[in-house]
Amino acid sequence: MAGGYDYDLFTIGAGSGGVAGSRRAASYGARVAIAENWRIGGTCVLRGCVPKKLLIYGTHFAHEMADARGYGWTVEGSLDWGKLVAAKNRETDRLEGIYKNLLSGAKVEAMLGHARLKDAHTVEIGGKTFTSKYILIASGGRPERPAIPGIEHTITSDEALDLTALPRRVVIAGGGFIAVEFAGIFRAAGAEVTIVIRGDKILRGFDEDVRDHLTAELKKQGIAIRTGENIARIDRTAAGDRATLASGGTIEADRIMYATGRVPNTRDMGLEDVGVHLDKRGAVAVDEWQRTTVPGIYAIGDVTNRLNLTPVAIAEGRGLAETLFNDNPMSMDHTDVPSAVFSQPPVGTVGITQAEAERLYGVEGVDIYRATFRPMKHTISGREERTMMKLVVEAATGRVRGVHMVGADAPEIVQGVAIAVKAGLTKKDFDRTVAIHPTAAEEFVLMREKVKR
Ligand code: NDP
Repeated sequence: MAGGYDYDLFTIGAGSGGVAGSRRAASYGARVAIAENWRIGGTCVLRGCVPKKLLIYGTHFAHEMADARGYGWTVEGSLDWGKLVAAKNRETDRLEGIYKNLLSGAKVEAMLGHARLKDAHTVEIGGKTFTSKYILIASGGRPERPAIPGIEHTITSDEALDLTALPRRVVIAGGGFIAVEFAGIFRAAGAEVTIVIRGDKILRGFDEDVRDHLTAELKKQGIAIRTGENIARIDRTAAGDRATLASGGTIEADRIMYATGRVPNTRDMGLEDVGVHLDKRGAVAVDEWQRTTVPGIYAIGDVTNRLNLTPVAIAEGRGLAETLFNDNPMSMDHTDVPSAVFSQPPVGTVGITQAEAERLYGVEGVDIYRATFRPMKHTISGREERTMMKLVVEAATGRVRGVHMVGADAPEIVQGVAIAVKAGLTKKDFDRTVAIHPTAAEEFVLMREKVKR
């Protein structure tokens, strides 16, 4: 018994954050249990980042083969979608096994089933109750769809990852991360793709140049983007599914996918009954130490609906374990967190957008540097794709406050540049860094002219 409790830490949710926090806690001698109501590994490993990226690698060969022809290769190929999905599933199964081994190796006790809180120190799962000094809510999120007639005919990213056949015509509702990533996957695989958004542009919250540049690139590939439209109803027809727009038109598809956001998994967990405050979207409210409104109950990751990114959840989980079990208080710093959208071409971004900078420092207080160019590879490949790179600089200090890129390898490149942004380096530091030539990344240290506005 740990101080009269069965465990020191009981984690609900064996996704990336819950597993990382639990393992770190166990490494300091804590007695840890982790409950999972689906599969060990969670969204990122099984229904998100990993399988999605494998499908992106798998479908991107279409672009690579087209490029190769420009370089003199004779390449013909067709995709066996079923084979790709099966290979992806083998890999996610393998990863699930690794996650299970990591838990057992760390002596974290895994339990399968739906966990509910009975009080601030008691969890019920599968008809049994367990007590714990601390409880960690790491139950993640799930896709949300609006309640319109016929919504049951649609799929979300969960099902899209497991389609056994490639739909010929796909409609995607929503214009966020998931929508544009799947648009790229389906289009490269050969489907006709239409994105339907209620606003005027994809990727709300991103820098305007990123939004505009990616829009142009997606359109070049033949992805249709219908703006200012809402789907009012969906009907199943003999030929597939029909989306009827509120404005009156219809779009025919073989699959209609909803990527209209995700909601926290807080249903039926007894959270409110024990006094854990949830916000209006159902997210667990926490402070920077991951503390909920009930002492001893903590929450990390997507269930808190702050920065819904795997590495953030992992850092939050490990930080909490350091705080509770290693006498090493670690709060989470949510500033300058780099992120990527694995669209085709992808987006990499860190820091603030131009609009945010102008709000903070005034329009005159911000210097903008931007380059758009045709990457060298495509001078011969014949592909029309262009790259956009941008620096947002605080004029008074010279600090680079935002870095944004759309183009091949943007996530790989921006990960490196993110260190400079996090370290608070200035445009002068960028300028005195020698370029690696010929690369696309070198543009970030070669931008001399401020963009005129
Ligand atoms: P997002 O919040 O990114 O985007 C939701 C989209 O759906 C927006 O375009 C929004 O439009 C639209 N929308 C919302 N509600 C409705 C509605 N009722 N009718 C029509 N359109 C609607 O959500 P995602 O599902 O794409 O992704 C969820 C989160 O998962 C992301 O925010 C991100 O944190 C994480 N994620 C990260 C990835 C990565 O790091 N590469 C990849 C995938 C997901 P509007 O702009 O008008 O609000």
